[in-house]
Amino acid sequence: MKYAIISDIHSNLNAFEHVLKRIEEIECDKIICLGDIVGYGPFPNECCNLVQKQSEFCIMGNHDHAAIGLTSTTYFNQYARTAIEWTSAELNDGNLEFLRHLPVQEEIENLLFVHATPRKPLEWNYIFSLYEAHRNFEHFEQHACFIGHSHVPAIFMHEEGEIPSLEQTEKIWLVSNARYIINVGSVGQPRDNDPRASFGVFDTDTGLFELERVNYDVQKTQKAMSEKNLPLYLIERIAHGR
Ligand code: ZN
Repeated sequence: MKYAIISDIHSNLNAFEHVLKRIEEIECDKIICLGDIVGYGPFPNECCNLVQKQSEFCIMGNHDHAAIGLTSTTYFNQYARTAIEWTSAELNDGNLEFLRHLPVQEEIENLLFVHATPRKPLEWNYIFSLYEAHRNFEHFEQHACFIGHSHVPAIFMHEEGEIPSLEQTEKIWLVSNARYIINVGSVGQPRDNDPRASFGVFDTDTGLFELERVNYDVQKTQKAMSEKNLPLYLIERIAHGR
Protein backbone atom coordinates (compact mmCIF):
# COMPACT_ATOMS: atom_id res chain seq x y z
CA MET A 1 0.00 0.00 0.00
CA LYS A 2 1.35 3.41 -0.97
CA TYR A 3 0.30 6.10 1.50
CA ALA A 4 0.50 9.84 0.92
CA ILE A 5 0.90 11.44 4.36
CA ILE A 6 -0.02 15.10 4.48
CA SER A 7 -0.07 17.54 7.40
CA ASP A 8 -0.57 21.18 8.34
CA ILE A 9 -2.60 22.29 5.34
CA HIS A 10 -3.62 25.40 7.30
CA SER A 11 -6.45 26.47 4.99
CA ASN A 12 -4.03 26.95 2.09
CA LEU A 13 -6.32 25.55 -0.61
CA ASN A 14 -4.03 26.38 -3.50
CA ALA A 15 -1.09 24.49 -1.96
CA PHE A 16 -3.38 21.59 -1.05
CA GLU A 17 -4.76 21.30 -4.60
CA HIS A 18 -1.23 21.16 -6.04
CA VAL A 19 -0.29 18.46 -3.53
CA LEU A 20 -3.39 16.43 -4.46
CA LYS A 21 -2.44 16.69 -8.13
CA ARG A 22 1.04 15.36 -7.34
CA ILE A 23 -0.43 12.54 -5.22
CA GLU A 24 -2.53 11.49 -8.19
CA GLU A 25 0.48 11.62 -10.55
CA ILE A 26 2.59 9.35 -8.35
CA GLU A 27 -0.37 6.99 -7.85
CA CYS A 28 -0.77 6.76 -4.10
CA ASP A 29 -3.45 4.35 -2.83
CA LYS A 30 -4.55 6.29 0.22
CA ILE A 31 -4.16 9.72 1.78
CA ILE A 32 -3.68 10.20 5.52
CA CYS A 33 -3.90 13.66 7.04
CA LEU A 34 -2.10 14.49 10.30
CA GLY A 35 -4.15 17.53 11.23
CA ASP A 36 -4.06 21.33 11.31
CA ILE A 37 -6.38 21.46 8.34
CA VAL A 38 -7.29 25.00 9.41
CA GLY A 39 -5.64 28.07 10.95
CA TYR A 40 -3.43 30.75 9.29
CA GLY A 41 -4.88 30.51 5.77
CA PRO A 42 -7.92 31.84 3.87
CA PHE A 43 -9.98 28.73 2.94
CA PRO A 44 -10.89 26.66 6.04
CA ASN A 45 -14.22 25.29 4.77
CA GLU A 46 -12.88 24.35 1.35
CA CYS A 47 -9.91 22.53 2.91
CA CYS A 48 -12.14 20.66 5.42
CA ASN A 49 -14.42 19.57 2.57
CA LEU A 50 -11.49 18.31 0.49
CA VAL A 51 -9.87 16.45 3.39
CA GLN A 52 -13.17 14.68 4.12
CA LYS A 53 -13.53 13.73 0.49
CA GLN A 54 -9.94 12.65 -0.17
CA SER A 55 -8.42 11.22 3.00
CA GLU A 56 -8.71 7.83 4.65
CA PHE A 57 -8.72 9.59 8.02
CA CYS A 58 -7.52 12.82 9.58
CA ILE A 59 -5.93 13.37 13.01
CA MET A 60 -6.72 16.30 15.33
CA GLY A 61 -4.23 19.20 15.16
CA ASN A 62 -3.81 22.00 17.70
CA HIS A 63 -5.30 24.63 15.36
CA ASP A 64 -8.29 22.36 14.66
CA HIS A 65 -8.63 21.84 18.42
CA ALA A 66 -8.51 25.60 19.04
CA ALA A 67 -10.94 26.41 16.21
CA ILE A 68 -13.59 24.29 17.98
CA GLY A 69 -12.80 25.98 21.31
CA LEU A 70 -10.97 23.11 23.03
CA THR A 71 -7.41 24.48 23.13
CA SER A 72 -7.30 28.01 24.55
CA THR A 73 -6.20 30.67 22.06
CA THR A 74 -3.88 32.04 24.78
CA TYR A 75 -1.58 29.12 23.86
CA PHE A 76 -0.89 30.84 20.50
CA ASN A 77 1.01 33.96 19.46
CA GLN A 78 -1.06 36.99 18.43
CA TYR A 79 -0.96 36.23 14.69
CA ALA A 80 -2.04 32.63 15.08
CA ARG A 81 -4.72 33.70 17.57
CA THR A 82 -6.17 36.29 15.18
CA ALA A 83 -6.29 33.66 12.42
CA ILE A 84 -7.93 31.07 14.72
CA GLU A 85 -10.61 33.53 15.82
CA TRP A 86 -11.30 34.40 12.18
CA THR A 87 -11.37 30.67 11.29
CA SER A 88 -13.81 29.77 14.09
CA ALA A 89 -16.26 32.38 12.85
CA GLU A 90 -15.80 31.34 9.22
CA LEU A 91 -16.28 27.56 9.64
CA ASN A 92 -19.77 26.24 8.86
CA ASP A 93 -21.63 23.96 11.28
CA GLY A 94 -20.90 20.81 9.29
CA ASN A 95 -17.14 21.44 9.35
CA LEU A 96 -17.12 22.40 13.04
CA GLU A 97 -18.81 19.05 13.68
CA PHE A 98 -16.28 17.27 11.46
CA LEU A 99 -13.36 18.83 13.40
CA ARG A 100 -14.95 17.89 16.75
CA HIS A 101 -14.80 14.22 15.80
CA LEU A 102 -11.17 14.03 14.69
CA PRO A 103 -9.20 11.33 16.54
CA VAL A 104 -6.05 12.17 18.52
CA GLN A 105 -4.14 9.26 16.99
CA GLU A 106 -4.65 6.29 14.65
CA GLU A 107 -2.77 3.10 13.89
CA ILE A 108 -2.62 1.01 10.72
CA GLU A 109 -0.16 -1.64 9.52
CA ASN A 110 2.11 -1.21 12.57
CA LEU A 111 2.35 2.55 11.88
CA LEU A 112 1.22 5.28 14.27
CA PHE A 113 -0.17 8.64 13.14
CA VAL A 114 -0.35 11.64 15.48
CA HIS A 115 -0.17 15.42 15.00
CA ALA A 116 2.46 16.53 17.55
CA THR A 117 4.04 13.77 19.67
CA PRO A 118 3.21 10.18 20.68
CA ARG A 119 4.22 10.95 24.30
CA LYS A 120 1.47 13.40 25.24
CA PRO A 121 -0.38 14.16 22.00
CA LEU A 122 -2.70 16.81 23.44
CA GLU A 123 0.11 18.85 25.01
CA TRP A 124 1.21 19.88 21.52
CA ASN A 125 4.95 19.66 22.20
CA TYR A 126 7.53 19.70 19.41
CA ILE A 127 10.17 17.17 18.42
CA PHE A 128 13.18 19.10 17.15
CA SER A 129 16.05 17.58 19.12
CA LEU A 130 17.44 14.08 19.42
CA TYR A 131 16.66 14.35 23.14
CA GLU A 132 12.96 14.94 22.43
CA ALA A 133 12.96 12.18 19.82
CA HIS A 134 14.55 9.77 22.33
CA ARG A 135 11.89 10.50 24.96
CA ASN A 136 9.15 9.91 22.42
CA PHE A 137 10.47 6.58 21.12
CA GLU A 138 9.57 5.15 24.54
CA HIS A 139 5.93 6.09 24.06
CA PHE A 140 4.96 4.01 21.05
CA GLU A 141 5.61 0.47 19.90
CA GLN A 142 4.94 0.65 16.18
CA HIS A 143 7.64 0.49 13.50
CA ALA A 144 7.19 4.17 12.63
CA CYS A 145 5.32 7.16 13.97
CA PHE A 146 4.37 9.87 11.46
CA ILE A 147 3.98 13.41 12.78
CA GLY A 148 3.57 17.03 11.63
CA HIS A 149 3.15 20.13 13.84
CA SER A 150 6.61 21.74 13.57
CA HIS A 151 6.26 22.29 9.79
CA VAL A 152 9.88 21.09 9.45
CA PRO A 153 10.45 17.73 7.75
CA ALA A 154 12.70 15.32 9.71
CA ILE A 155 13.51 11.63 9.98
CA PHE A 156 14.63 10.27 13.36
CA MET A 157 15.88 6.69 13.48
CA HIS A 158 16.30 4.56 16.60
CA GLU A 159 18.08 1.22 16.61
CA GLU A 160 17.63 -0.94 19.70
CA GLY A 161 20.27 -0.07 22.32
CA GLU A 162 21.58 2.91 20.33
CA ILE A 163 21.09 6.67 20.62
CA PRO A 164 18.60 8.02 18.02
CA SER A 165 19.99 9.73 14.94
CA LEU A 166 18.67 12.42 12.61
CA GLU A 167 18.81 11.16 9.02
CA GLN A 168 19.68 14.01 6.63
CA THR A 169 17.87 12.63 3.61
CA GLU A 170 14.63 12.93 1.68
CA LYS A 171 14.53 9.26 0.76
CA ILE A 172 15.02 6.28 3.07
CA TRP A 173 14.25 2.57 3.13
CA LEU A 174 12.97 1.73 6.59
CA VAL A 175 14.75 -1.31 8.01
CA SER A 176 13.11 -3.84 10.31
CA ASN A 177 15.65 -3.60 13.15
CA ALA A 178 15.09 0.14 13.65
CA ARG A 179 12.13 2.37 14.51
CA TYR A 180 11.36 5.81 13.16
CA ILE A 181 9.72 9.14 13.92
CA ILE A 182 9.05 10.90 10.63
CA ASN A 183 7.87 14.48 10.28
CA VAL A 184 6.34 15.02 6.83
CA GLY A 185 6.52 18.84 6.95
CA SER A 186 3.66 21.18 6.06
CA VAL A 187 1.48 21.50 2.97
CA GLY A 188 0.31 25.05 3.63
CA GLN A 189 3.01 26.81 5.66
CA PRO A 190 6.48 25.18 5.42
CA ARG A 191 9.12 26.49 7.86
CA ASP A 192 12.36 24.92 6.65
CA ASN A 193 13.33 27.88 4.46
CA ASP A 194 11.74 26.19 1.44
CA PRO A 195 8.34 27.66 0.49
CA ARG A 196 7.28 24.62 -1.54
CA ALA A 197 4.48 22.47 -0.08
CA SER A 198 5.80 19.37 1.71
CA PHE A 199 4.36 15.88 2.24
CA GLY A 200 5.53 12.28 2.64
CA VAL A 201 4.97 9.08 0.69
CA PHE A 202 5.41 5.71 2.36
CA ASP A 203 5.14 2.42 0.51
CA THR A 204 4.52 -0.43 2.96
CA ASP A 205 5.43 -3.04 0.30
CA THR A 206 8.94 -1.72 -0.40
CA GLY A 207 9.55 0.10 2.91
CA LEU A 208 10.53 3.24 1.01
CA PHE A 209 9.75 6.67 2.48
CA GLU A 210 10.17 9.74 0.29
CA LEU A 211 9.65 13.40 1.03
CA GLU A 212 7.89 15.26 -1.80
CA ARG A 213 8.07 19.03 -2.46
CA VAL A 214 5.58 20.78 -4.69
CA ASN A 215 5.57 24.30 -6.13
CA TYR A 216 2.33 26.25 -5.97
CA ASP A 217 1.21 29.82 -6.63
CA VAL A 218 2.15 31.44 -3.29
CA GLN A 219 0.96 34.87 -4.46
CA LYS A 220 -2.53 33.55 -5.12
CA THR A 221 -2.79 32.40 -1.50
CA GLN A 222 -1.29 35.67 -0.28
CA LYS A 223 -3.88 37.66 -2.25
CA ALA A 224 -6.76 35.64 -0.73
CA MET A 225 -5.26 36.10 2.76
CA SER A 226 -5.03 39.83 2.32
CA GLU A 227 -8.62 40.02 1.02
CA LYS A 228 -9.70 38.31 4.24
CA ASN A 229 -7.62 40.69 6.37
CA LEU A 230 -5.43 37.97 7.83
CA PRO A 231 -2.23 39.24 9.58
CA LEU A 232 0.51 40.58 7.31
CA TYR A 233 3.14 38.52 9.16
CA LEU A 234 1.32 35.31 8.14
CA ILE A 235 0.92 36.53 4.57
CA GLU A 236 4.63 37.29 4.21
CA ARG A 237 6.07 34.17 5.83
CA ILE A 238 4.66 31.67 3.30
CA ALA A 239 6.76 33.30 0.55
CA HIS A 240 9.94 32.50 2.51
CA GLY A 241 8.98 29.13 3.98
CA ARG A 242 9.72 30.15 7.55
ZN1 ZN B 1 0.50 23.48 12.12
